[in-house]
Amino acid sequence: MAERIKKERRPKNPSAKEWLASDLSQEFVADYKPFNFVDGEGVRCSLYVSGCKFACPGCYNKVAQSFRYGTRYTQELEDLIIADIGAEYCQGLTLLGGEPFLNTQVCLKLVKRVKKEYGNTKDIWSWSGYKWDELLKESADKLELLSLIDILVDGRFELGKKDLTLQFRGSSNQRIIDVQKSLKNDKVILWDKLLR
Ligand code: SF4
Repeated sequence: MAERIKKERRPKNPSAKEWLASDLSQEFVADYKPFNFVDGEGVRCSLYVSGCKFACPGCYNKVAQSFRYGTRYTQELEDLIIADIGAEYCQGLTLLGGEPFLNTQVCLKLVKRVKKEYGNTKDIWSWSGYKWDELLKESADKLELLSLIDILVDGRFELGKKDLTLQFRGSSNQRIIDVQKSLKNDKVILWDKLLR
């Protein structure tokens, strides 16, 4: 009997502008974690938005792939996040998911408010399944969000490249990118505190 070859499952690869937040986002959030030490540098407040279509095998937060998982983003939650971030020991905001760039309605509103209230005294980190080059070809809302972020951890989670010893990422294809330096120099520049 012929041996059945199991096809390796891979994350999805959308074409540019194939997935739009305006079509997909339900403005739901999976979780909010204030004052944590694991979602980037320093003490951070992390918002986990709901909905992601990359479908990476081994996804660390599979329930949040649904765009209607959790609860609706509210003004009360935003006010709480803004107040928490104001703590002197809090370095900034982190956006995770789900996919922040498929929830730009929520993320742009929040990030703009952080900038308005705190200027550049707080930094913004975001994770994304999109790779840097893919994001540059994306819709205007995604580009606007990118322009407001300091650090981006880019790319799908690839199970075959899983490495739990890496800083702030799960697989070795992902990069920790200094967004502002990269946009200014028109090439990917990695975070200057990268150890591994
Ligand atoms: S991009 Fe992230 S949230 Fe989306 S499926 Fe992959 S690991 Fe999960």
